[in-house]
Amino acid sequence: MTTRNDCFALDAQDRLSPLREQFALPPGVIYLDGNSLGVMPQATPQRVQQVVRDEWGADLIRSWNSAGWITLPQRVGDKIARLVGAEAGELVVADSTSVNLFKVLSAALAIAKADAPQRCVIVSERSNFPTDLYIAEGLARERGCELVLCEPDEIEGLLDERVAVLMLTQVNYRTGRLHDMAALTAKAHAAGVLAIWDLAHSAGALPVDLKGANADFAVGCGYKYLNGGPGAPAFVWAHPRHAERFWQPLSGWMGHAAPFEFTPHYRPAAGIARYLCGTPPVVSLAALECGVDTVLAAEEHGGMPALREKSLALTRLFIELVETRCAGQGLTLFTPRDERQRGSQVCFAHDEGAYAIVQALIARGVIGDFRAPDIARFGFTPLYTSFADVWDAVEHLKQVLERGEWREARFNERAAVT
Ligand SMILES: *Cc1c(COP(=O)(O)O)cnc(C)c1O
Repeated sequence: MTTRNDCFALDAQDRLSPLREQFALPPGVIYLDGNSLGVMPQATPQRVQQVVRDEWGADLIRSWNSAGWITLPQRVGDKIARLVGAEAGELVVADSTSVNLFKVLSAALAIAKADAPQRCVIVSERSNFPTDLYIAEGLARERGCELVLCEPDEIEGLLDERVAVLMLTQVNYRTGRLHDMAALTAKAHAAGVLAIWDLAHSAGALPVDLKGANADFAVGCGYKYLNGGPGAPAFVWAHPRHAERFWQPLSGWMGHAAPFEFTPHYRPAAGIARYLCGTPPVVSLAALECGVDTVLAAEEHGGMPALREKSLALTRLFIELVETRCAGQGLTLFTPRDERQRGSQVCFAHDEGAYAIVQALIARGVIGDFRAPDIARFGFTPLYTSFADVWDAVEHLKQVLERGEWREARFNERAAVT
C-alpha cells in the first residue's frame, strides 16, 4: 500500500511540479475543484490591472488597435487551439459554453438538413451536463426537431437516417467517464451524422485531438482547466471542411466580414470569426490568456501527454487510498476504474451523506464539490495538485467519516451553489 512517504517521493520525481508555482494557491487549502473553477494564476492580477489601468485608463478607446483588443478572441483562440488538436485560425473565444453550443448545434442542424431534409434528431446522453441538454431541447423545439437522450452504450444503436447530430461531452461532469472521441465520431459519420463535442472537462486536462478525431464542431469552457477565472469566456471550433457553410444564428456585428463598414446587411466573416457576436469582454479575455498560458507552460515539461500521465497517477492514487483507508465507510466508486475511460476527476457515491461529507471537508480546507443526488466529486488538476495533496485529502476524508463529523447539522444545510 502507498504510504505518505511514497507520496513525497512521487512529488520529488514529478517533472511537472515546478508548474505549481504559477498559481496563487491559498495556504491551508487542498483544492480538488479545478474542474469547476481553476485556481488563479499568479500572473492574472497584474495583467488585469494593466489592462484596466493602462490600456483602458490611459489609452482609452485607442487600445482596440494599440493594445490589440480587437484581435484578442483570435489570439487567445490560437493558443487554445494548440491544446485541443486544432490549427491557428480555426478556433475563437466568445460568449459562454451554453451560447456557443447553441451556435454550433444550430449550424449542424442546418447543414444536416441541407444534405438530407429528413434528418432532424439530436442524440445526446441523458447524463450530459444539463445546460447542454436545455440548449438542445430549446433549439429542437424551435426547429421542430427531436432531442433523443440515451445511456452511453445505447448511442451507436440510435444513429440512423433520421439523426442529424450526435452531441456529447467528452468527459462526463458527474461520472468522470471519458468517451473515445475518434471512435464515436467515426460511427456518427458512418451513419451520416455530424458530431459535436463539448470539451468543458477535457480541454487543458488531457490530450484532445479534434482534427485527428475528425470532429465537426467543438465548444469548451474557459474557467475550468484553462484557469481563466469566474465566468471566463468560452471557445468554439468548427472543422475547416465546414468553413464556408456553417451558419451563425446570432449574426452580430463582430462576426461580420467588415464590421466597421457599417453596412445595413449582414455578411458573415470568413471561417470561425463569424462565431463572434458582440463586443469581446476584454478584461475577461486578458485573464483567460493568463490561464491558458499556465497550461501551455507544460509544453516544456512534456506537454499534454505528461499532464495526462500525472492526472491518471493522481486519480489512481486517490482511488487506492480512499478504498483502502476509508473502507467500510459507505463510499462507492462512481468513476470508471478503466483508465482509458477516466477523465481527471474521481467521484464517489454515498447514500446519505455525500453533500455533508463535502461540506465537512471544505471546513477542513479540502475543497471538492457535490453533485445531486449523492455524488462527492474531486477534480485533480495535474498543473497544481501534488501527490502529498492526495494523501492529505484522504486523511481528512478518513477522519470526517470515522468521527461521523459529516452528521453535524451545520454540514447538512444546503447552499445555493453546491
Ligand atoms: C461547465 C460546463 C458548462 C458551462 O456552461 P456555461 O455556459 O459556462 O455556464 C457547459 N457544459 C458542460 C459540459 C460543462 O461541464
